[in-house]
Amino acid sequence: MDLGLKGRRALVTAASKGLGRACAAALSAEGARVYIAARGRDDLARTANEIRAAGFQEADVSEPDTPGRLVEDAVQTLGGLDILVCNAGGPPAGTFDSTPLEEWEKGFNLTLMSTVRLCKAAIPHLKRSDQGRIVVITSTSVREPIPTLVLSSAFRTAAVQTLKTLSNELAPDQITVNNIAPGRFLTDRVRQLDGAAAAKEGVSQEEYTERTVKAGIPMGRIGDTAEFGAVCAFLCSKHAGFMTGQTIVVDGGQTRGVY
Ligand code: NAP
Repeated sequence: MDLGLKGRRALVTAASKGLGRACAAALSAEGARVYIAARGRDDLARTANEIRAAGFQEADVSEPDTPGRLVEDAVQTLGGLDILVCNAGGPPAGTFDSTPLEEWEKGFNLTLMSTVRLCKAAIPHLKRSDQGRIVVITSTSVREPIPTLVLSSAFRTAAVQTLKTLSNELAPDQITVNNIAPGRFLTDRVRQLDGAAAAKEGVSQEEYTERTVKAGIPMGRIGDTAEFGAVCAFLCSKHAGFMTGQTIVVDGGQTRGVY
């Protein structure tokens, strides 16, 4: 199937590793011209080279002034913008009790405001495209709060409400706005979260991951990041033009609710 992505201009943030990288790689493989960002230069430069990105920039999307500058630089390099994929690193793990107030402020900027600021900056450019797409990486925590990830649950749910509102505002411009909610994919983030939980139980991260995956995911396996990237590429494709305001859960059946 031709996804109609050839020559499309895409900015993917937090894309040097994990799910963001998978989205950027999938778009690039379909012929899109991709500009990627993350904080650390080495991984970013390596990924840009591996996926044949059109450009890259070291950028911390949680900093208030960064998204606007990043979008303008991407537009400059790409000659416009058709696709924005918003991603950021996950907020730290913690329950309500264990999460200090300062972390709420940081989580707000990292998880909610990075998306708001990126969208604000990108929308004028997306309005000039005939295939404008916004895709945001969220989490299954928007469907079922994860007890040990209170910041993720709180700010991603706020992001989803914001994106639904935005999808209606942008619908007359034929710009789609969707989010993909990952369950568990084996990335550095999951290795780190599982590693911390495993240490408390005195077992290895691998053992902890295998046990919890078998117990919690009906498919009995962890997700492959390429499976996630493929969903992103489809949402950015010409075929997904009538699909907007949706949360697409990609979790091997982990989420038990119907909505
Ligand atoms: P990952 O493997 O740790 O990769 C995170 C990427 O984001 C890296 O490229 C990292 O590079 C970049 N990044 C982190 N903080 C950033 C910032 N402030 N500004 C710009 N770039 C930043 O994480 P992942 O597993 O792919 O997760 C991606 C997102 O999906 C996270 O928000 C995570 O919470 C969420 N999620 C993941 C899963 C899963 O199963 N993997 C499940 C649910 C939700 P630098 O560190 O160099 O900046």
